[in-house]
Amino acid sequence: MSSTSHTASPLPASAAVVNGAASRPRVGELVADLRKISKIYYKPDGSVLVEALKGCDLQIRQGEYLAIMGASGSGKSTLMNILGCLDQPTSGTYWLDGIETSTLTDDDLAEVRNKKIGFVFQQFNLLPRTSALQQVELPLVYRGTRNRRARAYDALSAVGLGERVHHRPTELSGGQQQRVAIARALVTEPAIILADEPTGALDTRTSEEVMAIFERLNRERSLTVILVTHELDVARHARRIVTLRDGVPE
Ligand code: ADP
Ligand code: MG
Repeated sequence: MSSTSHTASPLPASAAVVNGAASRPRVGELVADLRKISKIYYKPDGSVLVEALKGCDLQIRQGEYLAIMGASGSGKSTLMNILGCLDQPTSGTYWLDGIETSTLTDDDLAEVRNKKIGFVFQQFNLLPRTSALQQVELPLVYRGTRNRRARAYDALSAVGLGERVHHRPTELSGGQQQRVAIARALVTEPAIILADEPTGALDTRTSEEVMAIFERLNRERSLTVILVTHELDVARHARRIVTLRDGVPE
């Protein structure tokens, strides 16, 4: 039990307890610990509509590369939303990088999300008419981080786009656009990268290219990557696959 216990108090009084990148956990330490997570969606009259997660236990360690699979309706998006602090469970506890999130206020949850999660979406979600460098700098601008340009260059180089930093989305292929989005997610040095069907809008060859980027970032930077996919060919790139069935990992 010692390797999975937490020493921080379970209820941070304010977002001031949210640490920055300086205190990232070490490789192998628990970065996400979900205990008996359930998520119930209710009807307007208060009766149960659906129990999307049913006592889900999941432990993810720093440096893991994990794919979450499962049939449509098995709870993948619900689980991703909870992992990404976009939603909270009905019951159970979720420790993210040492913070128990299930009782946080919306503001504190947003702060945890901003500091600890990097999101990659199926549709890239890039700004039009904005260079790759500016897109990747943006999350740092919001934070008032120093050395923004250098860090954005570094992130773009890490995804193999060091030569294309001044290109706009329309001047980049789909695979390159997704690599910009990955650079934007990793520039803030989040504890976890969450990617929801990151290859869903890409052809097979480009998907391989994007998966190779995740693989390399995971290997070289010990980046913790969690992705949702319904494609086994994509999930195979991960080092661990968790399959959800009716709201619980198999
Ligand atoms: P998946 O992503 O694996 O397809 P979801 O997490 O989206 O699964 O959905 C799990 C179950 O919860 C499904 O039965 C779905 O209809 C239901 N569900 C998901 N989101 C909501 C919501 N916001 N309100 C009501 N029911 C929802
Ligand atoms: Mg879904």
